[in-house]
Amino acid sequence: MTDFKERTAAFAQEHGRVYQNIALAIHAQPEVSNYEFFASETLSTQLKKEGFEIELPAAHQRTGFAAYYKTGKPGPVVALLAEYDALPGLGHGCGHNIFGATSSLAASALKSVIDEIGGEVRLYGTPGEEGGEEGSSKGSFVRDGYFKDVDFALCVHPNGAPENELSSRNLANAAMKIEFRGKPAHAAADPYHGLNALDAQILVYNAISMLRQQVKPDVRMHGIITDGGTAPNVIPEFTRSRYYFRAAAKTTVQDLVAKIEKIVEGAALQTGTKGSMKPYANFVDNMVLTPKLDQVWADNLKALGHESLPQSWEVQPGSSDVGNVSQVVPVIQPSISISDVAIAGHSQDMVEASRSEKGMDSIILGATALAWTAIDVMLDPALLQAIKEEHRYNVENQAK
Ligand SMILES: [Zn+2]
Repeated sequence: MTDFKERTAAFAQEHGRVYQNIALAIHAQPEVSNYEFFASETLSTQLKKEGFEIELPAAHQRTGFAAYYKTGKPGPVVALLAEYDALPGLGHGCGHNIFGATSSLAASALKSVIDEIGGEVRLYGTPGEEGGEEGSSKGSFVRDGYFKDVDFALCVHPNGAPENELSSRNLANAAMKIEFRGKPAHAAADPYHGLNALDAQILVYNAISMLRQQVKPDVRMHGIITDGGTAPNVIPEFTRSRYYFRAAAKTTVQDLVAKIEKIVEGAALQTGTKGSMKPYANFVDNMVLTPKLDQVWADNLKALGHESLPQSWEVQPGSSDVGNVSQVVPVIQPSISISDVAIAGHSQDMVEASRSEKGMDSIILGATALAWTAIDVMLDPALLQAIKEEHRYNVENQAK
């Protein structure tokens, strides 16, 4: 095992520059969710060079891809997960340029020794984590069966804090669009001939605000009106809003969505308009933790000279589509610090950190620790079994 670890660490050191350059190139050309054509092409081309077989697009995601390397020997299947989308108007303010490069380097490093271990290493390029029209693509990879024969999955997220953290629980999230269709009319001459689709949206907005008092503290509901009419002198014929409905358990979100449906119905009744509510991206599941797998990561990061904060069971008030993966296979998404001082996520500071020297160093560190984690689990069937059992139990019992 030591030999495999030495060799993958050496691989990550020697090839690190290539992946750092890819991270910098993706940073310089930020692409928003579901438009990551350059990033998916660049990462998959590099993995092809490393000897992976490439499927692009994948999971009905035009910027999604899958990279496969199968040994001739039986053994576990590990999937590294890569994100590479940027934020509208900001760029790489979540460090996904580093995320994608780190997982890809980890997959390549692992591939350099896996023929002697057996099994299979894959990398899934999962676009749209920040949520575009087809966003939160990990839900698509799960739905299309990409995890059916996967034993466990790994990834690491850059952290805008001085500490390294282990995987955290987060919120399930339903991204919904609410539309109303009414009837246009001159707003001064004959408003009584119109049916006001904006009034319906305002009723929904206010009803959701009132509902906030009646929900548990883990619930988050927030939205914007994207289409509010065309001119002040026209009774709005069509309006559209977008909301996130989040909670610690997906069952809570499902109950919440059922209540919002009633609100939409009520607003349509009151205004005589036609209302509808539909998801505009994949449903994002809450993250189920598998602490045994996080522990393997923490031990390896420590062996590389870096501590992690103890795992917290507090629910973090955000969402990630890695939650969808966590419902079907054991998966970790710890974080590695890319900043010496705490900076805000999705900020200009984070954009700078995502191309900083510390950010670039984190690619080699993260890839090495990911490869080592995979090696530990792949070589120890009893450990893999224990991880799977813990995962199964937590899927049933966490977040209830
Ligand atoms: Zn992120």
